[in-house]
Amino acid sequence: MSHTTSELIEQSERRSAHNYHPLPVVVREARGAWVTDVEGRRYLDCLAGYSSLNFGHGNETILRAAREQLDRVTLTSRAFFHDRFADFCRGLADLCGKDMVLPMNTGAEAVETAIKVARKWGYEVKGVAADQANIVVMEDNFHGRTTTIVGFSTDPDAREGFGPATPGFRVVRYGSAEAIREAIDENTVAVLLEPIQGEAGVLVPPAGYLEQVREICTEHDVLFIADEIQSGLGRTGETFACDHEGVVPDMYVLGKALGGGVVPVSAVVADSDVLGVIRPGQHGSTFGGNPLACAVGGAVLELLGTGEYQARARDLGALLHERLRALTGRGVVAVRGRGLWAGVDVDPAIGTGREVCEALMRRGVLAKDTHGSTIRLAPPLVISAEDLEWAVEQLAAVLAELPAPAGLSGTAEPAAG
Ligand SMILES: *Cc1c(COP(=O)(O)O)cnc(C)c1O
Repeated sequence: MSHTTSELIEQSERRSAHNYHPLPVVVREARGAWVTDVEGRRYLDCLAGYSSLNFGHGNETILRAAREQLDRVTLTSRAFFHDRFADFCRGLADLCGKDMVLPMNTGAEAVETAIKVARKWGYEVKGVAADQANIVVMEDNFHGRTTTIVGFSTDPDAREGFGPATPGFRVVRYGSAEAIREAIDENTVAVLLEPIQGEAGVLVPPAGYLEQVREICTEHDVLFIADEIQSGLGRTGETFACDHEGVVPDMYVLGKALGGGVVPVSAVVADSDVLGVIRPGQHGSTFGGNPLACAVGGAVLELLGTGEYQARARDLGALLHERLRALTGRGVVAVRGRGLWAGVDVDPAIGTGREVCEALMRRGVLAKDTHGSTIRLAPPLVISAEDLEWAVEQLAAVLAELPAPAGLSGTAEPAAG
């Protein structure tokens, strides 16, 4: 049963909702930082499943753990205990310096969990009047796709048409500690933010911002929730992006790479004075914390425990940013990011981010545009220095060969995660 790329794309598009606008590549297999399509062409994966594949495709440590678990037990539901649960929760809590974990599956579910926990904490611990809790969130946030989460998105594509929005959120400008201070009142239970805004274009807040947020939250008895779903677990050169400022939030929200690129694994990690507000029957998930997820997550914790991946992100990230900065003025307007994570603003005169990504694809590099003319680069942390330099060379070549002839411009795609 062999199909060509165009047949498979046509068949995929005919029978699936068009909630994505994928690049026209059909992947069949992958190892490390490289994927191969159905026609045998190879591409360097510079997106890594939006940071879900930090440890590379087919990472042996992760696959071994998954295979071993597949043959023993994969699902119990939380109606029973299983023998992988305790180790995973202890390991993850230790990694975060916290004492409790609430495992879920997708990132959005973990964010929803953090919101529920914060509200419950607000009513039971802080003493907020019933149904009056508010949470301060940021402009240009991305926290997932549930109705509550998109209700406080400022991206019209994410939000419009899906109302009515869940009440209880206050949107302020990202990067301004003062704006947070002004938004907080006696009913504020939490500040929810991404320590680096990924979907918004890898926006790094001003130095000292996270520290100030920490201080403001402590001062006003408000929980600091860090959504580290994309920024966490090695991507920025530290285990967490908050580590760069020595800041410890009250709740870590984790996902993506926690599942090792194999299964969806997410979690909220906090101390028991916070997570302890949830009692039996008040929150849950059929698949959350299942044996396969815990085995895979355990392997991820093992890899992070070596510090090797954080170091790679730090060292290779320095190389990536140095090479990208050298393209400034040669088609690149601005470069942002930290570690092996970069948002590259391309001169709009050269083309849209989509056009640049299509041209990169033709040269064997897979990357993803966001918001018009920004390209995101987030290769697996196992990428070699040579491959990384080659990828930037391909970008330089693309910027030199574009713009494409007028009239061929593709449509800009909304950010998607
Ligand atoms: C991807 C992402 C989410 C949502 O995760 P899903 O697994 O797609 O639900 C939430 N927050 C951030 C910062 C993300 O990058």
